[in-house]
Formats: sequence, C-alpha cells, structure tokens
Amino acid sequence: MKTLTYSKNIFLPVTDLCRNRCGYCSFRKEPKDAHLISRTEATRLLEQGALRGCSEALFTMGESPWAVSGFESILVDAGVADLLDYLVELCELALEFGLLPHTNAGLLGQENLRRLQPYNASMGLMLETTALLDAHAMSPGKRPDLRLQYMAMAGRLRIPFTTGILVGIGESMQDRMEALSKIAHLHRAFGHIQEVIIQPLDPKPGTALENAPRPEIMEIYRTVEAARAILPPEVAIQVPPNLVDPRPLIAAGANDLGGISAVTVDCINPDRPWPDEEELHKCLSDYSLRERLPVYPRFIAMGWHGHETRSLVDFLAGEDGLRAKKYIF
Ligand code: SF4
Repeated sequence: MKTLTYSKNIFLPVTDLCRNRCGYCSFRKEPKDAHLISRTEATRLLEQGALRGCSEALFTMGESPWAVSGFESILVDAGVADLLDYLVELCELALEFGLLPHTNAGLLGQENLRRLQPYNASMGLMLETTALLDAHAMSPGKRPDLRLQYMAMAGRLRIPFTTGILVGIGESMQDRMEALSKIAHLHRAFGHIQEVIIQPLDPKPGTALENAPRPEIMEIYRTVEAARAILPPEVAIQVPPNLVDPRPLIAAGANDLGGISAVTVDCINPDRPWPDEEELHKCLSDYSLRERLPVYPRFIAMGWHGHETRSLVDFLAGEDGLRAKKYIF
C-alpha cells in the first residue's frame, strides 16, 4: 500500500508587507494596511494549534519588508525592535507550545538564515519558476538566480528544505521541467530538499492574473509526472488538497499533501478551505495516510533539524520518524 503523508499545522502570517508585487498575489498589503502579527495573536493561534494536536507552526511573511517605506512604523506600533529577533522569539514561543517551526521568510542573507536555523525543524522558499515572466516584472526577489543561490546557501547550512513551483503563471511545460531540473541539481549537490510542491495558480480577483485560466487537472498531472521523473526518488512531491483533488495526482507520483489545518486558513488562498483530516482519511482509504512532522524522517536520522527543535522532535517522532500519536496537551 502506497504511503502518503501530511502534517497538521497552523499558519502564522508574520507580516503581509512585501517589497515584491507578484501578478497573482492577494496576500501582500500596502504599508497603510499592512500588519505585523502581535504576540497576543501568535500566542492565541499557537495555543489553539496545540489543543488541536498540530505539530507544525508555519511562519510566512512578505519578502524583505524592511525594503518598503513604512516598515519601521509598523515595527514601532507593534513594539518590536528587530524583525529577525521577533521571528526567533515567535519560533521559541511555538516550541514552548509543542509546535515545530517551519519558516519561509523569503530571501534572507546568510547571517539571518543562520539565526533562524537552530529554531526551525525545516525551512522553505518556493523557487516558483526559472523563467522570466510578466507576473514577476515588479518582483525583484523573484529573480530565479537569487532564489537558486538562496537554496544553495540553505543546502550548505544543511537545512532540511521545502521548495516548489507554480503552475499557470505564464510559464511553459518546458519552463517547469527546467525549474524541476535545477531543484534536482541542487539536491544532488547538497542533499537538503525534502519536498517539492506543485502548486497550481488559483486566480484572485483584483490581481493582474485574475482572468488567467485555472490549470486543468491534466496539466497538473503531467507536471507531477515530470517532477517524479526528474527529481530523485527520496524527494517527496507535494500537492495541496485545498487547491486540487489529490487522487489522480497520486497516480502520477505525488506522495505528500503538505500541511492541513483545523485552526487557520491558507493565508495565500483564504477562500480555499482545507479538507477535514477525517474526510481526507476516508477519501484516501486506498493508501496508508500518515501524519508526519515538518521535518522528514531521513533528516531527523541525520540530525539536520535545528538544535533547539531536537527534544521536541524526539518526543513527537515515532521509530519510523513520522508522527507518533503523542500530544502535549
Ligand atoms: S506572492 Fe509573496 S513575494 Fe509575491 S507579492 Fe505576494 S507576498 Fe510578496
């Protein structure tokens, strides 16, 4: 029986201020409307996550918010002196609640990546594409060379890493295969890629791509199939079950469903609710559906997860490195 995995997470959007303007994004806010998550709100979500048996605190934010005018006043209003210190503080808070941090903070310098590493079970950055697309014309951080360099830096630091590609933002099938080949190349060099997300565009009103066609299931199927052929077998292929029916894609090679949450919405696609965990088990009863931690078993065995996460990982993981049914609360 084929094994499929998923994690139970909560989604914490640290800030929606972002220096990029991607043509499909409805997450980013202008400085006058942008926010920084408060300690009170983060604590509330973490507490709920712990009570619902989640094991992952997914911290995401807009990219390089410090490059946007108005950033300082958002920090001051929230009583925060330094965003990286605050991210570390939130990761420590997550660990206190028994949730393992996985941070995707966009492109960071090496010093900042090193600061976050000890507090994270794994980290991530979507490559999205290696093509130069109109959707990224106003997004300096989406330069493929910068993102590949960042992923290589994470590899040199031995950070278990999640990345992925977007489908339907103006790229061709050839572009997707090139992006997947670059990811495979990085993994062969550093061995750090734990999963690759194949994420279909979900067009949002008010964005430049609002009228772009939603990718057809066959298009996604062919992309998953190409990913399975291009990526080394130990790299999981993830499809998000709130955006696409995973069942046909499992036949094409998908073997992970990513994070699902009974507590928070998908902040990138808030109108796309997560499937209920029990429903997922029912509709995928032909498979062995297993809960995992935000770090994959082979990285636990190699001790690559951040050292501050080790005692919690030891507590939550079973002998096979997947989640043992232990709860803190
Ligand atoms: S998709 Fe991410 S990087 Fe692009 S504008 Fe939105 S928040 Fe910024």
